[in-house]
Amino acid sequence: MNATTTGTGTGTQIEIRGLHKAFGDLEVLRGIDITVARGEVVCVIGPSGSGKSTLLRCVNLLEEPTSGTVSVAGTEVTDPDVDIDRVRRRIGMVFQSFNLFPHLTVLENLTLAQRRVLRRGKAEAGRVARANLERVGLADKASAYPAQLSGGQQQRVAIARALSMDPELMLFDEPTSALDPELVGDVLAVMRSLAQEGMTMLVVTHEMSFAREVADRVVFMDGGVIVEEGPAARVVGDPQHERTRTFLARVL
Ligand code: ADP
Ligand code: MG
Repeated sequence: MNATTTGTGTGTQIEIRGLHKAFGDLEVLRGIDITVARGEVVCVIGPSGSGKSTLLRCVNLLEEPTSGTVSVAGTEVTDPDVDIDRVRRRIGMVFQSFNLFPHLTVLENLTLAQRRVLRRGKAEAGRVARANLERVGLADKASAYPAQLSGGQQQRVAIARALSMDPELMLFDEPTSALDPELVGDVLAVMRSLAQEGMTMLVVTHEMSFAREVADRVVFMDGGVIVEEGPAARVVGDPQHERTRTFLARVL
């Protein structure tokens, strides 16, 4: 969409260099480097408190890094002069909690930001919303209210809402952690098909089978650093570090 600010054919969608983040005396990220190519799916795994959410939040500047740089599609988001709203518009984010507006229908949840932020007309926003509801298998729920849906359906609505903004990349922060086990599969299936369509995705998850099957690369974080990273088969299937082994033994 914003041809002037996209990368110059390098194929790099997210570039994180020397990222540090402290909250007061607490150093949460202690020098993170990650490159995500266009169309790549990278899963971030690691124990609670290791800095995974903070890392994702630094990508769209929901948290301001203490030092280091983050670039998204060739735009350095950590540049003080950047128009951060414009950058954020290109990044879809899905959280553990679905954050739908309870007083709005599913369709209204999907059209609100399209109309306010992208200035789309009612008909166009509705068309995009319905297409994305179809994509997540919820075409018949357009007039439902969030409370009438299961957690898994609400999360799929949240994904459809993010997709309705035509993001260039998607950030997922433990999107299935709040769901009853029987509802996890449908959400992962939607994410899997998104990956197959070529969406660039940075996904924090404890779903090791998803990481193994869908991720191009897995990053294991502990204590604010990357302990190891590589193809899922290697990091999850044959971890080299004791800390990774200990973590995997607990979640697998
Ligand atoms: P993870 O997602 O891996 O569980 P987080 O990024 O949420 O880890 O948190 C890493 C550490 O940073 C934790 O110790 C957490 O308490 C702390 N933290 C996160 N956000 C804040 C904040 N806004 N203020 C102070 N401490 C925070
Ligand atoms: Mg977290």
